[in-house]
Amino acid sequence: MDLIRRMKLLTDLSSLTQWTASCRAAGGEIGFVPTMGALHLGHMALIHAARKACAHVVASIFVNPTQFGPNEDFARYPRTLDQDRQLLAEAGCDALFVPEAGEIYPVGFQTSIHIELGNSLCGRMRPGHFDGVAVVVTILLNRVRPDVAFFGLKDYQQFLLIRRLVGDLAMPVRVVGIPTVREADGLAMSSRNRYLTADERQRAGFLYQALMAARQAYRQGERDVQVLEALSRRILESGGVDGVEYIELRDAQTLEPVVVCRDNNAPVMLVAARVGGTRLIDNMVLSIVD
Ligand code: AMP
Repeated sequence: MDLIRRMKLLTDLSSLTQWTASCRAAGGEIGFVPTMGALHLGHMALIHAARKACAHVVASIFVNPTQFGPNEDFARYPRTLDQDRQLLAEAGCDALFVPEAGEIYPVGFQTSIHIELGNSLCGRMRPGHFDGVAVVVTILLNRVRPDVAFFGLKDYQQFLLIRRLVGDLAMPVRVVGIPTVREADGLAMSSRNRYLTADERQRAGFLYQALMAARQAYRQGERDVQVLEALSRRILESGGVDGVEYIELRDAQTLEPVVVCRDNNAPVMLVAARVGGTRLIDNMVLSIVD
């Protein structure tokens, strides 16, 4: 409890502004970790990286309505603020910003941001999703004005898109990507994993198996894009993951489809699949070495 009390809880913009001003006065960089809460060890890896790199660490929890489609899980998205505060405090986070929706999107709000990188893959399956991500990340970065912002590579397309956004709009922040934290069977940790039944949870492990198989084949010399994609797809199907939205090999920087694999240009295999009613995503760069 003491730990929790030491971490500043910032519920409105003026307290956030006060806190960031005091950090700037004290000196040292501000590291920022935006989240939607329902925190797990994947989020904590971002906090730890921020803690290591920056004098001041602030996280945010905001379940952003504009990045959910009309038939998606906004209403039932897990909200576990007490547990989240405990985890953040234990990880050494200095402050937590938990804004109300009206403070992020005041009455009359009408701006949207569209980034071409968000047209394919998850953006194609979830129209408007990345526009919502881009706008909320821009608002949060403008409010917090961190020196460094930390994002997970688990959301690979999102990471590239945010890096593009920050570069294109000349936002004065460094964007750092943190490797995916996984469960013992390789399943990428996700707030949505808690939706899975025991049977679905067991099948969900095949996303990782499918990616690993492609990487192993790549390491053994396979360079045919269709062969690599078909191999991953077969593994998903053999594991009972039949709701595959996409499993595709893409250029790891541009996300353009890969026509020919070149050795000095490791591609990334990206997957999105429904397991039961739950949509899961994962990815793996097919590097030659770890
Ligand atoms: P979310 O709360 O799902 O919006 O995620 C907040 C941040 O945590 C995003 O930058 C995610 O990419 C990152 N993240 C989520 N799961 C993981 C994971 N398993 N490993 C590393 N980062 C993650």
